Amino acid sequence: MTKRSLRDLPPEALDGRRALVRVDFNVPLKDGHVTDETRIRAALPTIKYLRDKGARVILLSHLGRPKGPDPTLSLRQIVRDVERILGTPVEFIPDPASGAAATRQLPRGGVALVENTRFWPGEEANDARLAATLAALGDFYVDDAFGSAHRAHASTAAVAQLLKPAVAGFLMEKELRYLGDALQHPGRPFVAVLGGAKISGKIDVIEALLPRVDEILIGGAMASTFLLAIGFQVGGSLVERDKEDVAKALIARAGAKLILPRGAVVAPSLARAAEQREVPSDRVPADCAIFDIDGATRLDFRARIVKAKTVFWNGPMGVFETPPFDAGTRAVADALVEAGKRGAVTVVGGGDSAAAVAGLEDKFTHVSTGGGASLEFLEGKPLPGVTALEDA
Ligand code: ADP
Ligand code: MG
Repeated sequence: MTKRSLRDLPPEALDGRRALVRVDFNVPLKDGHVTDETRIRAALPTIKYLRDKGARVILLSHLGRPKGPDPTLSLRQIVRDVERILGTPVEFIPDPASGAAATRQLPRGGVALVENTRFWPGEEANDARLAATLAALGDFYVDDAFGSAHRAHASTAAVAQLLKPAVAGFLMEKELRYLGDALQHPGRPFVAVLGGAKISGKIDVIEALLPRVDEILIGGAMASTFLLAIGFQVGGSLVERDKEDVAKALIARAGAKLILPRGAVVAPSLARAAEQREVPSDRVPADCAIFDIDGATRLDFRARIVKAKTVFWNGPMGVFETPPFDAGTRAVADALVEAGKRGAVTVVGGGDSAAAVAGLEDKFTHVSTGGGASLEFLEGKPLPGVTALEDA
């Protein structure tokens, strides 16, 4: 179902109006400074557009998982960074209950940031009273927090019932377009590449993708559980022995669609990377662990990826945080970029996968900022923050 977007509101109707914008500024902090601005930058198109049209912009976000007011998780800490990134002063509203006057005093194009929504108990309870307090801060609602859309919270769901129009911001719109339409009606071949630490948590994604994809390439530690399921030994690799049966069932259902790594880069431990070597998947030594896909697998995956017209990738192929075990992940990223140059739609989802391609975002059709929300959306689960928005 397509959702009404900010683009669908007549621009002249935005002038002077207060836009209550739910963003995902749940950014990593160190010593009170933002260490990764990606999520703030991702909301820029929506914020800029609203300011250009003369709206007063009131930003709402959560930060971390506070159990009530907690200075270490106050959004006040990021005001300076947001001001720098937006290039404009940002008014801080410490309490939404007494903030409405401040929102009316904002100049046209002015920006305010409300304190961490999770400081109030009603947020996670999706409480209608907190939603009413939040709704009083704006004249209409824009949801640009795709990463929070899988949670029915007062600032993502209940508020959208009270404050209309309730529309998708540009980031939300893009996420829905590429994770929704593009993967529901894919150009073919449609190849999914899945990796990362575990199959648990991704079983539903695999099941949802299987009927839709032409091939599903498995890497990362997730592959080890599949290798175990076909009777190979995986030494000291990260593996979920209790998921062996699940892996067996998926292999049976997938038939020829499921492609496992031909070989692995192994080492006695992460610290002993100097002793790394490549082995075929059925020759993993008992005293070693798999830390990456090997060269043969990189070539095999690349050949399949560059032929695709739609590629979805979630989960690193190895322990990409610890070079040299980032090589397989890089090879897959390169292959997606090449597929894109040949006309494919390339979509990257997942927190660690997005981190692995940081700085290269422009080379893909879409890099989802959604993390858990992207996976739930792919599974076909309705996201409360999306459902709450008006249909187009
Ligand atoms: P995403 O956040 O993109 O969904 P995951 O959280 O599922 O990805 O997985 C990312 C983690 O998987 C990374 O920390 C990476 O080090 C780990 N990982 C990938 N391959 C391996 C492996 N062979 N052994 C151990 N950890 C791995
Ligand atoms: Mg992760």
